[in-house]
Amino acid sequence: MTIKAVRGTRDLLPPETALWNRVEQAARDVFALYNFSEIRTPIFEDTQLFARGVGESTDIVSKEMYTWEDRARAQSEKAQSLTLRPENTAGVVRAYIEHKLWERPGLQKLYYIGPQFRRERPQKGRYRQFYQIGAEVIGPPTAGSESPARDAEVLEMLVTLLNRLGVKDWTLQLNSVGSPSNRPAFNEALRQALNGVVDRMCADCQRRAVTNPLRVFDCKVPEDQPIIDTLPRISGFLDEADRIHFDQVQEILKATAVPFVINDRLVRGLDYYTRTAFEFTQGSLGAQNAILGGGRYDGLSESLGGPKAPGIGFAIGEDRFVMALAADERSTVPNSEPQAYIAPLGDGMNVQAAKLARELRSAGIRTELGDETFRLKKSFETAEKMGIRNVVIVGENEVASGQFAVKDVTSGEQKIVSRADVEKLVAQPSKS
Ligand code: AMP
Repeated sequence: MTIKAVRGTRDLLPPETALWNRVEQAARDVFALYNFSEIRTPIFEDTQLFARGVGESTDIVSKEMYTWEDRARAQSEKAQSLTLRPENTAGVVRAYIEHKLWERPGLQKLYYIGPQFRRERPQKGRYRQFYQIGAEVIGPPTAGSESPARDAEVLEMLVTLLNRLGVKDWTLQLNSVGSPSNRPAFNEALRQALNGVVDRMCADCQRRAVTNPLRVFDCKVPEDQPIIDTLPRISGFLDEADRIHFDQVQEILKATAVPFVINDRLVRGLDYYTRTAFEFTQGSLGAQNAILGGGRYDGLSESLGGPKAPGIGFAIGEDRFVMALAADERSTVPNSEPQAYIAPLGDGMNVQAAKLARELRSAGIRTELGDETFRLKKSFETAEKMGIRNVVIVGENEVASGQFAVKDVTSGEQKIVSRADVEKLVAQPSKS
């Protein structure tokens, strides 16, 4: 039996990996403009981090995590429950607390790029190992971390990134989920409203109605949607300060020409969100159309044992983001085909070919190297199949005379040039 990639995971192969790199590079460039720096946290963490950070009753923690008991290997070690990270915000906030990042000046503006793991039902656009590009702005309130200006700035940065990559047909959906102080009143209203209808809803909703009624809004079951539409909305429960905060976010978005729609059903699938919550959807993606999501998490640091450190962040689903790139944008990935194919001709010529390849590569020429056991015909054919135009022949005569034959396999034309001119000739852009 052959071994295959595990269900829900996949290999990313060239040339698609070039697209991924382009997305990541654009993200790094745009984040740098907004003065963000990179953070890398471990791929696995203490299970407690997610239980406390993301929330026990969320789908992620209650049924989607890859968790295992890490056995002690020495007397001095303790067995520990570990989990592959299902998201990265909890890890970043843990690092913020662990390294006392609040002692650094200003706000911490951190971004990350990397794999996340959730045991969801795999389908197009939904994987068990998927990749997120995310960023967080976090710090003490005195550094301005609570300001609606931070929310608006993060959203405007995302629009800059989407535009730079030519992603079209996106919608920014925006909501405020209020503060923990008004959550009990809302939960109570929801519970009451659910009382009469919940037995007509899916099993997950029945569980949510008891454990955490807000999560009913995460339900994707079509039959439940008309019922959910009748439930009270969190927008009716915001206090004065939350409302003013949300108004100010919207005011800056309008001033910076960031289009958005208010979606008062949007609650997001993690417990830590407070106030601003958002999602960008994209028209071409079908069922899994959320390309990124995020929001404010003003109490997360305290719930992990840290100081008061309001924050806001987002995670882009890179898998979906790459799919959402318009077809014409996909094809503008820079041509990364090699410019030269070196064909060593005859015994002992691998050594000479290696020397020439080293020179060409150090001059910045992407070079493919053949083998002295190949006949010339085979070298030409290989180069042609790989889309490489110029074949440089390295035989005994060439090495002795310092004159090299360079064959253009597309036109069949062959030129004899000096060693110094090989570099110039193959570096010429292809006419086709
Ligand atoms: P979340 O961390 O749940 O807020 O998700 C943020 C973004 O990550 C979503 O908008 C998706 O684009 C992406 N995402 C979440 N789960 C998956 C998954 N299982 N497969 C692929 N992308 C995902």
